[in-house]
Amino acid sequence: MVYVDTPPGLCPECGRLLRHASDMNGTGHRPKPGDLSLCFNCGAINEFDVGLGLRPPSQETLDKLPPDAAAKLFDAQRSIRTKAEKQRLYGVN
Ligand SMILES: [Zn+2]
Repeated sequence: MVYVDTPPGLCPECGRLLRHASDMNGTGHRPKPGDLSLCFNCGAINEFDVGLGLRPPSQETLDKLPPDAAAKLFDAQRSIRTKAEKQRLYGVN
């Protein structure tokens, strides 16, 4: 997986400091305003703003997602949240 640096910012949902991003397709794509981001700590779906800070996505942004991209995004979110819940409950990964 290719990670690229992003301006340091906090996840709006969990407050985790985020400084890097990776493309779900492994291409090394650099984030741009309007791109979506998935927090690896809590699974929140966020959107990059004009300064590449993170904010919760608008419903309009989510509605514009192609069905296959939405399915992939929500599958990844479910996976992160399941892992986080197991870690919270049992202290394992
Ligand atoms: Zn988060």
